[in-house]
This record gives sequence, structure tokens and C-alpha cells, in this order.
Amino acid sequence: MTDQLRAKFENLELNAGLGKISAFISVSTAFLCLFGALCFLFPSVLTTPELRPLYTQHYDAFYFSLMAGIVISTGFGAFSAIARQNRYGFYGLCLALIAAVLGCGVIKAPVLPSLPFYAGFDYFVLTLVILALVFIPLEGFFAKNPEQKILRVGWVTDMKYFMFSHVGIQLFSFLTVMPIQYWITHIPNNPIVPLVQAQPIWLQFIELLIVVDFTTYWLHCAMHEVNFLWRFHAIHHSTEHMDWLASSRLHIVEVLMTRFIATLPIFLLGFHTSVVFAYLIFISFHAIFIHSNVRFRFPYLRWIIATPEFHHWHHSSEKPAIDKNYAAFIPLYDVIFKSVYMPNHLASVYGTVGYKIPNSFVKQFTWPFKRYVNRIKKRFSNSSDIKKD
Ligand SMILES: [Zn+2]
Repeated sequence: MTDQLRAKFENLELNAGLGKISAFISVSTAFLCLFGALCFLFPSVLTTPELRPLYTQHYDAFYFSLMAGIVISTGFGAFSAIARQNRYGFYGLCLALIAAVLGCGVIKAPVLPSLPFYAGFDYFVLTLVILALVFIPLEGFFAKNPEQKILRVGWVTDMKYFMFSHVGIQLFSFLTVMPIQYWITHIPNNPIVPLVQAQPIWLQFIELLIVVDFTTYWLHCAMHEVNFLWRFHAIHHSTEHMDWLASSRLHIVEVLMTRFIATLPIFLLGFHTSVVFAYLIFISFHAIFIHSNVRFRFPYLRWIIATPEFHHWHHSSEKPAIDKNYAAFIPLYDVIFKSVYMPNHLASVYGTVGYKIPNSFVKQFTWPFKRYVNRIKKRFSNSSDIKKD
């Protein structure tokens, strides 16, 4: 099923005049509206508790956005289906109508019971809308590789990663942040916390960047140098097409490790909550930006802050660029520890060297474990052979 999905919709040219662009807008907007309508219908289980006060406060604005999405999807779907005879336009139209049926009921701002578990469907929809509106035009106007299609090879797989990481936000927090928080809060009278919190917010923000980038630099380095860790990180490097969506391709084991290592100093040093919140938004957006297909070079800034040019070289499959540029935000760490590579031209070929990593989401999940499973199988078959003898 997913193989067929990828064969049909990956590497797809959205050329004008055939109703493909309008069908694309219609179908993608309709899917978002469907998710949005489901969030309106089942807010207790599908929305993020931290965002619920925002929905209650600006209920009309969110409801209007859903209606506007349905109208846009219907309009483009109708144009594609009727004027261009494109069947995907018709599908978009049908999906928009389902979203309208689900979302057009009289739904009031709900009083929500707090349930122990939830899925962040709202977080998925909101971030996807914002990022698509920012990055699709940005990559369209300032593309580093103008030949690369929006629906390039691997986008279906990467979209699954994007959805999984956003919908499963509670699971990730639970598995990484909670144990650290519990551990830190049980350290009696941590003397560092008052010292850190006495500083101005802007200074705490810079310190947080420096400290977390230092720890993640070494984790990233270990992921390249230690074979066991590399097998998980190789999934991220398997993409051969860089764009904003490629940043999502991360094995869950890597996500958990990075969250754990990054969160540890945040809690240990006790940075102010608003600083941590601002940092998380900033660094998440920055991580997507450095993967994007843009040609900006930032002549002087590129040695101070990691840029797309800097990080694209990290993903390059050219020999001199292998195992270089580990820093997520501060390239100075790579300069100090002699792992920097930034020639005068831009990187152009990406991907892993010497590994054939499968394309599907599920196969990529099992790939790092395969070697160990095969070893166990071999051992069992050997021992049964000995018994037979
Ligand atoms: Zn890497």
C-alpha cells in the first residue's frame, strides 16, 4: 500500500495547466481540514492540553480558519475536477465535503475533562500549516536546487515522520522529559538553580544555547563514530533530497536520545520556564531552516550560527564532508574540535555512503535492529545444529 503510494505520489511534477496544482492545494487543505474538524469534535483526546486555553480564548478565529480551509479546498477541488477534468481534484472536493459535514455542526468551545492520554493532532495541523506556508514559497523563490520538486522522492516517508513526531508529542515527553524532571526535582537544594535564575532572561537564553549545543555536539559526534548509534542516525542521513520536510526523518531512538541529552542540562541548571519555551520554539524552527532547500549563504553569520549551507555539508555524501559539521547551532564547536568543512561552493549530493537504507517508514524503523536480530537468529540456528550433531 505504502509502496504504491510512494510510486504514485513521489517525484511528482506539479506542472501547470493539468489541474495538478489546484488538486494538490485542494487535497492537502482538505486533509488538514479533516484533522482540524476531528480536533473540534474530539478535543479531549485529539488536542494538546497546553494549547487548549488558546482555542477557548480565540475560538471564533480557529473556527473561521477551518471554514476558510474548507472553502479553499472546495474551490480548488471544483476547479481541478470540472475545468481540468482531474480526478484528484474530485477527491479533494469529496474530502472537503466530509470535513464540512464533520466541522459545520454547531460546535461550542468545550469545557474539557482532562484525560490521562491525548494525541496532538492540533499540534500536527498547526505546525504543518505554518511551516508549509513559510517554507514552500521560500524554497520556491530561493531554491538551492530549483529542479527539486515539492513532491520529491521521499516526501511521503518524511510526512509520516512529521506526523508521528507531532501527534506523539506526549509519548516523547513522557519517555524523555519526565524521568529527568523527576530526577532533578529530587536533588535537594540544587545550588546552581538560584544563580542561573538570577540572571537576565536574554543571558539565560544565550547560555542555554551554548550549553545544549555543547552536549548535543558530542552526542551527534558519537552517533557518527559509534557503529551502534550510527545505525539509528543513518536513517536521518538516508535522505538524498534536502528540504524543510527532510528534517523530520529521525529514528525514534535518536529522538529519545537527543531529547534526553538536550533536556538534562536544561533541568540541571534550572533555566527559567519562559527561556526554555522560547529556546524550544527557536531551535525547532532553526533545525527545519538548516535542512531547507535554500541558497542563502549569510557571508559572515555562517561562522557564528549554523546555516543551511553549513548543515547541507553535514548531509553531503562527498568524501571530504563525511563526519563533519556536527554542531546544531554554533559552528565554532566544529572549528575548535576540528570537524568543520565549509568550502566556497554549496553541497549538491546527499545521502549515506555504503549503506542501502530502505525507503519505507516501517522498514526504516526496523533497519537498525536487523543486524542484531540476524545475529541472534544465527546463534540459535548454530546451537540447534550442534544439538543435532
Ligand atoms: Zn549527522
